[in-house]
Amino acid sequence: MLKDRDDSSSPCPEEKSPCGGCGQPIIDRFYLLAVDRQWHLGCLQCAHCRVPLHSELSCFSRHGTIYCKQDYFRLFGVKRCGRCQMGISSSELVMRARDLVFHLHCFTCISCGILLTKGDLFGMRDDLIYCRPHYEILR
Ligand SMILES: [Zn+2]
Ligand SMILES: [Zn+2]
Ligand SMILES: [Zn+2]
Ligand SMILES: [Zn+2]
Repeated sequence: MLKDRDDSSSPCPEEKSPCGGCGQPIIDRFYLLAVDRQWHLGCLQCAHCRVPLHSELSCFSRHGTIYCKQDYFRLFGVKRCGRCQMGISSSELVMRARDLVFHLHCFTCISCGILLTKGDLFGMRDDLIYCRPHYEILR
């Protein structure tokens, strides 16, 4: 999240917080706010591949260290939904099909969108999920 220090609508109590990346105090007018820390615009980067991260949405943190989405998922083996490609935390309920996992709400027929639940008959082709009638049509 890009912050403007002169924005009077959001007073900044932690005025001289050190940068989460380089540890130097941030005196720039603009700074980034991510994972509860402030960052110089150029300091928010992936700890692994050094790709610059420009928003809270593109960065993932683990034990206070920032990673890009790709490294985060690769390094920590977080499962990704076979449909929406978002991470699935270990506490979430999932649907499994072959070696893929899906959010419950993502386990739908690619053709008609019907939500499939445990026990429903479904088919898979090219990692896509089909309800039984649509899978029958495919074959
Ligand atoms: Zn910095
Ligand atoms: Zn990275
Ligand atoms: Zn999903
Ligand atoms: Zn269908």
